[in-house]
Amino acid sequence: MPIEQLIERYEAGGGHLAKANAEGLAVPPALHTVVLTCMDSRIDVFALFGLQLGEVHVLRNAGGVVTDDVIRSLAISQRKLQTRDILLMQHAGCGLSTFTDEEFSEEIANEVGMRPSWRTHAFRNPVQSVRRDMAQLRHDPFLLPGTRVRGFVVDIETFDLEEVFVDAGAPSVVRTAAAGE
Ligand SMILES: [Zn+2]
Repeated sequence: MPIEQLIERYEAGGGHLAKANAEGLAVPPALHTVVLTCMDSRIDVFALFGLQLGEVHVLRNAGGVVTDDVIRSLAISQRKLQTRDILLMQHAGCGLSTFTDEEFSEEIANEVGMRPSWRTHAFRNPVQSVRRDMAQLRHDPFLLPGTRVRGFVVDIETFDLEEVFVDAGAPSVVRTAAAGE
């Protein structure tokens, strides 16, 4: 069973390692930054941005989209743990681009007899989704004035990183993962 497997790994040294890795770290993230991204199991956020433990808050959900609960976490992160910047990253080939909100809602309703009260935030185009979520973050009344938000789309095959700008007319900037080779 998968959960038991994880408990075994904890007992085999995971707990010890985690304790050692967290030793001496302050609670507020050292880079005062929050990374919001998709829960996709292939995205190694720490490797991608050369992160160390203790440097950022990482918020992950299906799609890496802005939801009420993301705003809740961001507000706490900013007001209680001194973060300021937000790096938003969604990705091409996301599970959220394989269905529409209406389809998902209908599928669930057919199965359980009622529609969910929440939306899936499904999107077809990750660039457009990032742009909309950035706009939402910039105008959210619960985030601190002056919050810096930058948005990106990562290609899950090449790991090229495309920066997205709120102004739809602005060309996006693509950085390639192979640039350092
Ligand atoms: Zn995804």
